[in-house]
Amino acid sequence: MSFQSLNLLQPILNSLHDEGYSTPTPIQEQAIPIIMDGNDLLGCAQTGTGKTAAFAIPILQLLSQKITNEHKKKIRSLIVTPTRELAIQIGESFQAYGRYIRLNHTVIYGGVNQFQQTTALQKGVDILIATPGRLLDLMNQGFISLRDIEIFVLDEADRMLDMGFIHDVRRIISVLPQKRQSLFFSATLQPEIIKLAGTILHNPKKVEVTPSASTADTIGQYIYFVDKANKNALLMDLLRNQSIKTALVFTRTKYGADKVMRLLVKNNIKAEAIHGNKAQNARQRALANFKAQTTRVLVATDIAARGIDVDNLGFVINYEIPNIAETYVHRIGRTGRAGAAGTAFSFCDAEEKAYLKDIEKLINRKIPVIHDHPFPLTGDIAEAIDNQEKRRRPEYMQSGMAKSRRNWRPNRDR
Ligand code: AMP
Repeated sequence: MSFQSLNLLQPILNSLHDEGYSTPTPIQEQAIPIIMDGNDLLGCAQTGTGKTAAFAIPILQLLSQKITNEHKKKIRSLIVTPTRELAIQIGESFQAYGRYIRLNHTVIYGGVNQFQQTTALQKGVDILIATPGRLLDLMNQGFISLRDIEIFVLDEADRMLDMGFIHDVRRIISVLPQKRQSLFFSATLQPEIIKLAGTILHNPKKVEVTPSASTADTIGQYIYFVDKANKNALLMDLLRNQSIKTALVFTRTKYGADKVMRLLVKNNIKAEAIHGNKAQNARQRALANFKAQTTRVLVATDIAARGIDVDNLGFVINYEIPNIAETYVHRIGRTGRAGAAGTAFSFCDAEEKAYLKDIEKLINRKIPVIHDHPFPLTGDIAEAIDNQEKRRRPEYMQSGMAKSRRNWRPNRDR
C-alpha cells in the first residue's frame, strides 16, 4: 500500500515525501481511512509504530478541507499526551506533516514559564498539543476554550492512568463539545482503559498493532544474566565496545539514573541523565546533546524517555528488567525505529527472572542469552558446579558439597 492510495492531499503527500516515508506503517494503513471517514477510533499501539502520523495526518487533512472565516483563531483539534517530551515530539510531527498546509499548532506543557505559550495561544491556533496539568491551568486562567474542538485525541492513555492523570483527563473531557470526533490511543487495553475509552468514544472502530509484531524483526534482543552488584562492571565492559556510538540506558528510578550517569562520567564516558526531577530545559538540552551525539550515553527513567525519538539510535540497554512487560516493549522500541536495525541488551539479576518470563510471554518469543561474559550470575555458576560435582561424586557426598559451593563467588568479588 502507498500513501497515494489513502487519498491524501498533495501538500501532505509532498511533506511525507520530504520526510522520506515511502509506505504507511500498519497502524497508519488501518487508522488513516477510519479517521478520515469521521469515525471515532480506539487504537492499541505504542510509540515507535508510527502512531503519531496515524492521527496527525488525517487531522491535518480533515481540518484543512474546511477552513472558513468562522474557524479563525479557534482551537479545532486538541491532543492530550502525558509527558512534555511526547508533547514536543507530537508538535514536531504536526510541523513536519503540515508544512505545506495553512494550519498552525502550538505545544503547551508544564515546568516552564507560561508566557511564550499564552502569547502563541492569543495569536490563535488551530491545533493544540498539551499535557493535562498545564492545559487545565491555562483553561482556568481563561487562555483556552475547548468549545470549538472538532477532533480530540487522548494519547498514551495507559501511561496517563499510571501517572495519576485520570481526574485531570475527566475534567478535560467534561468540557469538550458533545459533538466531536475522538481518537484514543493506548499501548495496552486493560479493563480500566476500556472503561475510560467508553466514556470518551462513540461507536469506535478498533485498530490494534500488537507489541510482538512491532518488536519482532528489526531489533536484536539479548539477555545478560548478572548479579545486581556486577551490573555496573558489566555496563562498563559493554561500553568498551566502541561500535556502540550511542546508547540509551534505562533505570527504574531517578536515583538509579543519576548513579549510573555518575559512574559513566567518572569513567570518562560522556553521559547525561534525564528524569522527572530535572528541569525541562535541562532535559531538552540533554536530549539535544544525545541527538547530536556529543553525549554518548543517555540514562533515562521510563517516564522521561517516553517521548524520546532519536533517529539511528542503535542500542538500548535495560540496566534493570522492568516489572511491567509492556514497558520493555516501549523501551526497546526506542531503537530499531521504522524498520532500522537496533539492538537491545537487558541485564537480568536473579530476582528479575520472573519479570523476564512475563516479557517473553508478552512478546511471544525467547530472548537469546549471552553466556560468554565476565560476570555470570553466581547462582548459575554454583548450580553448574553442583551439577558437575554431582556427576563426579558418589551420592553420599553430594549434599555437603552443594552447601559449600553455594557460598562460592568468582575471584574478582573476593
Ligand atoms: P511514533 O510511533 O509516532 O513515535 O513514530 C515512530 C517513528 O517512525 C518516528 O521517528 C517517525 O518519524 C517514523 N515514521 C512514522 N511513520 C513512518 C513511515 N510511514 N515511514 C517511515 N518512518 C515513519
